[in-house]
Amino acid sequence: MPRYDYECDECGEIFEARHGFDDPAPPCPNGHSEVHKRITSVPRLLGGIMTDAGHGGTATKEELRSKWAEETPKLRKKLVDKLGEEAVNKYAPSLNHKYDD
Ligand SMILES: [Zn+2]
Repeated sequence: MPRYDYECDECGEIFEARHGFDDPAPPCPNGHSEVHKRITSVPRLLGGIMTDAGHGGTATKEELRSKWAEETPKLRKKLVDKLGEEAVNKYAPSLNHKYDD
């Protein structure tokens, strides 16, 4: 028999049950009958991740550029204070450049 994961809508208990495909959902271990199947199939998980990534990717180039322009001088100054101008030029030369794609 297939195994299903359920989550109780009333107490939040997550439990497993084995039963036939067409059988009604079993009650949760605490006796509640309002339960739903947890869908954890891989395609759905991947879909969620891709959606999140796509959403994060909606930052425009202008936004990235202004973020870079704003943050980089601060970061560079911190490093210069700590390491000295020469070390920063040597180890973090990219901080000397403007955002460039
Ligand atoms: Zn319950």
